[in-house]
Amino acid sequence: MLGTLLARIVVLLACLSVALAGTDFYRVLGVSRSATEKELKKSYRKLSKQYHPDKNDSEEGRAKFLEVSRAYEVLSDAEKRKTYDRFGEEGLKQQEGGGGAGGDPFNIFRNAFGFGGGGAQQQRRGQNMLAEIEVDLKAMYEGDSMKFTINRRAICEQCDGSGARSEKDIVTCPVCDGRGVRLVRHQLGPGIFQQAQMHCDRCGGRGKSIKHVCSACRGHRIVEQQSELNLHVDRGMPEGAEIVFEGEADESPDWVAGDVIMRVRSKKERGGFVRKESNLYWKEPISVSEALLGFKHRVRGLDGHDIVLSRTGVTQPGFVDVIHGEGMPIYHLSGHGDLYVEYQVVLPPALTTKQQDALEQAFGYRHPDKIAKDGHTEL
Ligand SMILES: [Zn+2]
Ligand SMILES: [Zn+2]
Repeated sequence: MLGTLLARIVVLLACLSVALAGTDFYRVLGVSRSATEKELKKSYRKLSKQYHPDKNDSEEGRAKFLEVSRAYEVLSDAEKRKTYDRFGEEGLKQQEGGGGAGGDPFNIFRNAFGFGGGGAQQQRRGQNMLAEIEVDLKAMYEGDSMKFTINRRAICEQCDGSGARSEKDIVTCPVCDGRGVRLVRHQLGPGIFQQAQMHCDRCGGRGKSIKHVCSACRGHRIVEQQSELNLHVDRGMPEGAEIVFEGEADESPDWVAGDVIMRVRSKKERGGFVRKESNLYWKEPISVSEALLGFKHRVRGLDGHDIVLSRTGVTQPGFVDVIHGEGMPIYHLSGHGDLYVEYQVVLPPALTTKQQDALEQAFGYRHPDKIAKDGHTEL
């Protein structure tokens, strides 16, 4: 009994000391304490993508994203890493001056992937990928978030984009001696030579050749990958709005990946609401009696609420009624646009004799042929 209690206290104390030491940044990034700069970057790139809000929409994902950003921010800075190794997170906070520790996690992300503009070395950027996506008008009305998958090329994780089985398999190109180019002598005539510089075709100008290629990418340095992204559709988002996913286009070891740009439009549905900017259009069928005597209809709005269409008196076919505030939500503002309702009068396929008689009475009208017949019978 006493033994287990003691054990519990020991466990408790152990937990306490871990808590006091602060976050283990190495564990957060899943690397050893002796991790190289390259290993840190590799792990950060992987984790930050995994938890980036573009990919992971959960509360937990957001917290993780902040955590890995902070861990990488500290460990990728030699000075901060030294302080952290010696004095832990507390010591680091003192060094940073107690102010809100940590830079903008999105900036850290951009810099690690080379998106940050105005950097010392201007890196080549890959092409952007533009895609169109159709969503339900309901999603644009209420706002929604959805997942979709794209096919892209990604840097091979196994070889880290080198294409080689291991570091040792990367050797200086024997053909060009690592220069990437070679000199070729052409004989133009007797005793006349021309020297031309040619791109080395053995190493593709890289100056390195590979003895054994990586088994995952077979030396191509990139692999085909499916990437899942999270699309946020904002309330009232305009048609054709472009959502940018930074660095989600094809990757290559030779350039910084471009962006995936999703152009969002609403699906056109037959018989549904039609959108024009912040207004909605609707066609409502009414019967002859309703057209003549008035009516009260209910239409289900895009978010399921009832919209009452009510008129008294005569409604002409094709008449358009404007219902203020029943259109689309206005993007980034409060309020809604208007709803335009066009009434379409639907005539019955036929009338009974009784109905005909009643109508003749009501409108004081008779078909000319009938009048002629009436005359004959009277004679
Ligand atoms: Zn070569
Ligand atoms: Zn590979």
